[in-house]
Amino acid sequence: HLHKFKVIIRGNDLREKISQSKCPYFIIDLMHWDKHTEKEKKKVALQASQSYGVIRDYLWGDRLALTWVNEEFKKLANFPLDKITSYEGPTAEFLKKEGIDEVVLLDPWAEKDLSKEDFSTGAFIIGGIVDTGGTKKKTTPKIGEELERVGIKVKRRKISLRGDVIGVPDRINLILELLLKMVVEGKGMDKAILEVQ
Ligand code: SAM
Repeated sequence: HLHKFKVIIRGNDLREKISQSKCPYFIIDLMHWDKHTEKEKKKVALQASQSYGVIRDYLWGDRLALTWVNEEFKKLANFPLDKITSYEGPTAEFLKKEGIDEVVLLDPWAEKDLSKEDFSTGAFIIGGIVDTGGTKKKTTPKIGEELERVGIKVKRRKISLRGDVIGVPDRINLILELLLKMVVEGKGMDKAILEVQ
C-alpha cells in the first residue's frame, strides 16, 4: 500500500528510486483551456500552482503532470514548471509515452464513487476546468471520451457525500488534496472531504 510505503522510506536516499516508479501520476488535463475567459484562465493557473504546493506535501513534484500546456498557460503559471511534469501535447500522447493504458478520471457526472479498488491505476485525471458561468457543463466526461477514442481504458469516478456531489468542493487543488488523502493516506472519502472543507 502506498501509504505504508511512503512512511517506511521517508528520509531514505532510496525514496526517489523505488517509490516514484510505483507511484501514479496525478494529471491536470488542460484540454478545455480555450473554453475559459481571461479571468477563468487566471483561476485555472492559480489552482494549478496551488496543486503544486499540495503534491509536494504528500508526494513528489514530478508526480503532478499537466497536459495540453500552452504558451498562455506558461505565462500565467507562477510556479516552476520544471519541478512538475509539464507536457505540451495531448493527454493520450503523454500516457502512451509513459506506457499507461488505463486511467481513473475524476468526474462529478460519473455513476460510481471512487473507491480503493481504483487506486492501483497508472494515472488519476482531474479536469483543468474552472466554472464561473454555466458554460462548461459536462466538459469532464469529454476528457474521458477523447482518451477512449484512442484506446485508453477510462474509469470514471466521482467524489460524493453519500451519493451526492453537492457539498463537495470542486476546485482543482482541493480535488487533488482529497484524492491524495484517500490514495496516499488511506483515509475514507467522508473524512477526506471534511478535512479539505
Ligand atoms: N464543469 C465541469 C463539468 O461539468 O464536468 C466540472 C469542472 S470542476 C470545477 C473541475 C474538475 O474537478 C473536474 O473536471 C473533475 O475532474 C474534478 N471534480 C470536481 N468535482 C468532482 C467530484 N465531485 N467528483 C469527482 N471529480 C470532481
